[in-house]
Amino acid sequence: MKFISTNGRADPAGLSTALLAGLAPDGGLYFPDRIEASPFRRFDACTTLPQVARVFLRPFFEGDILHDDLRLICDLSLDIETPLVSLAESSYLLELFHGPTAAFKDYGARFLANTLGRLRGTEAGETPLTILVATSGDTGSAVAAAFHRMPGFRVVILYPDGRVSKRQAHQLGCFGDNVLALRVPAGFDQCQALAKQAFSDSDLRARVPLSSANSISLGRLLPQATYYAFASLLHHRATGRSLSFIVPTGNLGNAVAALIAKGAGLPIHRVLFATNRNRTVPEFVETGEYHARPSVATLANAMDVGDPSNVARLRFMMAKDPALHAALSALSVDDETIRARIKSGEADYGKVFCPHTACGIEMLEHERRGGSKDDFCVVATAHPSKFEDVVEPLVGHEVEPPPALRAMLARPAASEILEPDYPSLKDRLIRL
Ligand SMILES: *Cc1c(COP(=O)(O)O)cnc(C)c1O
Repeated sequence: MKFISTNGRADPAGLSTALLAGLAPDGGLYFPDRIEASPFRRFDACTTLPQVARVFLRPFFEGDILHDDLRLICDLSLDIETPLVSLAESSYLLELFHGPTAAFKDYGARFLANTLGRLRGTEAGETPLTILVATSGDTGSAVAAAFHRMPGFRVVILYPDGRVSKRQAHQLGCFGDNVLALRVPAGFDQCQALAKQAFSDSDLRARVPLSSANSISLGRLLPQATYYAFASLLHHRATGRSLSFIVPTGNLGNAVAALIAKGAGLPIHRVLFATNRNRTVPEFVETGEYHARPSVATLANAMDVGDPSNVARLRFMMAKDPALHAALSALSVDDETIRARIKSGEADYGKVFCPHTACGIEMLEHERRGGSKDDFCVVATAHPSKFEDVVEPLVGHEVEPPPALRAMLARPAASEILEPDYPSLKDRLIRL
C-alpha cells in the first residue's frame, strides 16, 4: 500500500519511506491511500492482540520491505495485556496501561522502535540516530523504554520541569545508557518549540542525525488501530453487537486510530472524543470550523492541546467520507468534573481512574443521561498511579503502581537541566 500526504502535494510513499520521513515533504501527514472495509470474518482464527494486529496491518505492509517482518514486529511490540473489563451494564473499560510505562503510548512507541530498528539494521556502524522528543509526560517515557539500549539509537527527552508528576519525572530519568532526560524550566509548548527548531536546523542535522517520535508518526498511528480491532472483536464474539468507543483525546492520534479501525470494517458503531477544557476539537465537531488556540492547563495535562497535530488526518477522512462529520461527537470536561469523576469512581464502578480516563467516564455518563443505550467502551489511557498528585488526595488513599512502573521507580533517576533557549539545546546535542 502507498501512503499519501494530507496536503496532496507530495508523491505517494511506501510504508518504510513514510515511517522514516515522519512528515511528508510537503508538510502534510502521511495517511493510507485507501482503507478498505472488509468482512471481519478474516479475524476468526485470531485470539490475541498480536494475532489480530498481524491480520489488520497486513494490507498496510503489502509491497513493503517490512512485509516479511510484520509477524515478528507485532509479536515483539504488542504482547501487552489489553483487558476489556466490565464497568456497568453495556459499559466497558479498555485498559491500555499494562505496558512498561503504564500509558497507551507504549503500543505506538514499541511498534515504532521495532520498525525503525529493522529499517536501520542495514546501516549498522553509522552515527546513531537521535530520537528527539518533547513530552508533557507519557510519550517521553514510552519512547525511552522502547529504544532503551537499542543499538544505533539514542533518545533525548525534553520535559517541562515541575509540570509532570513526581512519578513521571522519576520514570523519565531512570533509564540512563542511551537515554538523556533534559528538564527545561519552561512549559511544554516551549519544549516543543525547541525540538521543532532542532528539526529545522540543517547544520545540526548534518552533524547529529535526528528523528522524531511524536504523534504524527505512522509508526505510532497504525498499531493504535489494532487494539480497537481486538476489543471490538472480543465484544462482538461475546454479544453479537458493535461497540462504541469513547476516546480521551489530545492530539487526536488515538481517536483517528479508532476511526481507521472502524473504516477497515470492524464491528465499531461510534467513535466519541472526550477532552478537557481545551475546546478546539469539540468546537470543530460542533460547528465544522477549526480554530487553533493556545492550550490551557488542566488536570488531564496529556490532553492540554490547543492545535491537535492529527487534525489534518481527521479532516482528510472527513473530506473522503461526507457522512463522517455527522457521526462524530465530542465533549469538553472541566477540572471540577474531572475531580468529581475520580472521586466517585470507586463507589460507582469499583475503579480508580486517571484524569484523562475520567473525562471519558464523564462522557459515558453524559450519553447515558441523554438516553443512549449503546454498548460503550471508555478507553483508559493511563494508570491512575502515574498521576498520584491529582488522584490520591481525591480517592483518599495511595494508588499502588503496577509492577513495571514500580520497578522503574525503584531504580535511581537522573536528569540534566537545560536552559530554555535554542543555543543551549544545540550545544548539548552536539556534545552527545
Ligand atoms: C497522550 C495521552 C492522551 C491523548 O492522546 P492523543 O493521541 O494525543 O489524543 C490521553 N491520555 C493520556 C494518559 C495520554 O498520555
